Amino acid sequence: MTLGGGDRDYPPADETGFVEFSRTLPTPLIYDAIKDAKALTPVCSYRGTENRLRHYDRLPRYPENLVIIGHAVCAFNPIYGQGMTVAALDAQMLDECLQKQHQRHPEGDLTGFARQFQQKLAKLHTIPWTFAISQDSRYRGSTGAQPNLGTRLIIEYMELVLKALVDDPKVCQAFLEVLHMIEPPAILFHPRIAVKAIGQLVNRRMLRVK
Ligand SMILES: Cc1cc2nc3c(=O)[nH]c(=O)nc-3n(C[C@H](O)[C@H](O)[C@H](O)COP(=O)(O)OP(=O)(O)OC[C@H]3O[C@@H](n4cnc5c(N)ncnc54)[C@H](O)[C@@H]3O)c2cc1C
Repeated sequence: MTLGGGDRDYPPADETGFVEFSRTLPTPLIYDAIKDAKALTPVCSYRGTENRLRHYDRLPRYPENLVIIGHAVCAFNPIYGQGMTVAALDAQMLDECLQKQHQRHPEGDLTGFARQFQQKLAKLHTIPWTFAISQDSRYRGSTGAQPNLGTRLIIEYMELVLKALVDDPKVCQAFLEVLHMIEPPAILFHPRIAVKAIGQLVNRRMLRVK
């Protein structure tokens, strides 16, 4: 069970406070699920929520035979649960690139390999990075890189998807599959999901009219 907060509104690390925090969420679902449950372990809290991307791919000069993957390149706010997946994908990409390099240069020449690998890796990080910073930029207290217009539109749309998933298990599953990089983000724009998301916009307007 994980609860997250932002803008100085954080779940307390004691059990009573933790459960009470869940009562402040927009839906009572989580509180109802845990209020009578027995905790198996104490609550642990973690505040290292910054996202950090190091552009080794843009260095004008890059040393030979040094590759950098995982958190050392791209670290995420852990609330989105992407870091291990990305680190594993990085390792998989390294394996594939080394195999191709070996086919091209069976004698073991690695000249230029490390630099090209970092450039290829940067493309792999684009989607999870955009996802993490766009979600975090919704907090007033966020600092650092500001999302561009395209990303801001995606944030607005994702806001609607997040509202829709509370009552719709299929939207929820699609969102989690994208979050954990099992499916590409494009599936969240499928008409089946888009109709539910835009329906939230209509609901919002109707509430305002009332
Ligand atoms: C609270 C929390 C929850 C998370 N939940 C999820 C989740 O649900 N799903 C998910 O996918 N990801 C999650 N993550 C992110 C995930 O843990 C990281 O993305 C992942 O561990 C990064 O792997 P890594 O191998 O790059 O770095 P690390 O796992 O940090 O490994 C780096 C290793 O290098 C060692 N090291 C550092 N400096 C030196 C040195 N100078 N010499 C020798 N060794 C050194 C460190 O001790 C460490 O063992 C979570 C992270 C946190 C903090």
